Amino acid sequence: MTGFQGQITLDGPSGTGKSSVARAVAARLGAAYLDTGAMYRAATVAVLDAGVDLDDAEGIARAVTAATIEVGTTAGAELVQVDGVDVAERIRGVEVTRSVSPVSAVPAVRRRLVDQQRALVAAADAVVVEGRDIGTVVLPDATVKIYLTAAPEVRAQRRAGQLGLSRPEKIAALAADLRRRDEYDSNRADSPLRPAADAVVVDSTDLDRDQVVDRVVEIALSAVGAGERS
Ligand code: C5P
Repeated sequence: MTGFQGQITLDGPSGTGKSSVARAVAARLGAAYLDTGAMYRAATVAVLDAGVDLDDAEGIARAVTAATIEVGTTAGAELVQVDGVDVAERIRGVEVTRSVSPVSAVPAVRRRLVDQQRALVAAADAVVVEGRDIGTVVLPDATVKIYLTAAPEVRAQRRAGQLGLSRPEKIAALAADLRRRDEYDSNRADSPLRPAADAVVVDSTDLDRDQVVDRVVEIALSAVGAGERS
């Protein structure tokens, strides 16, 4: 028990270690955890399976509206389903990763998923929510807002480490992919990636995961005036 109640938003670009930090913070605080990126990835599965062209915003909106997307809010147990089918592994694949940015740029998709995100958050006393627009759009009144960044080359190296890649050309390709997604996410008209005015920016370039987790937990507990007890 730590005494934290409320919402912690964790936004930032790809490859900052956001997911593993968010999960660890939720576990430390006994809080629920919501991965909104998993929801956009699940929506992308629905679009790909419907055979809709990624330039067809109306078709994308129709495919996502017709699908039942379910995500869990327990840090230790990943649940992601589209129309009752488990897609937890598929959403991390290359095909979905390549297609998710255009799907998530469609306003009707965002409206649908943001409604669902707010309902899931409302059901929890304490929750860590990770994404791109959580502090700016989804939960503008959140208790604590964190924006996690890291230098682009460090982000590519970390991603490569997770995937077990070491060849320089593979790492360069990963760096290019991260840059492409960041650019797309930062420049879209609806809910672009950017820190909320009242977010605490945490730069993890020179910090390891545990140091980032400690820092976020400290910020969260001091925001609610609670001390961590074991
Ligand atoms: O966090 P993750 O890399 O799984 O997110 C995948 C994609 O989903 C992002 O590149 C972004 O296009 C989209 N996304 C979003 N808004 C969020 C979370 C993710 O647009 N809140």
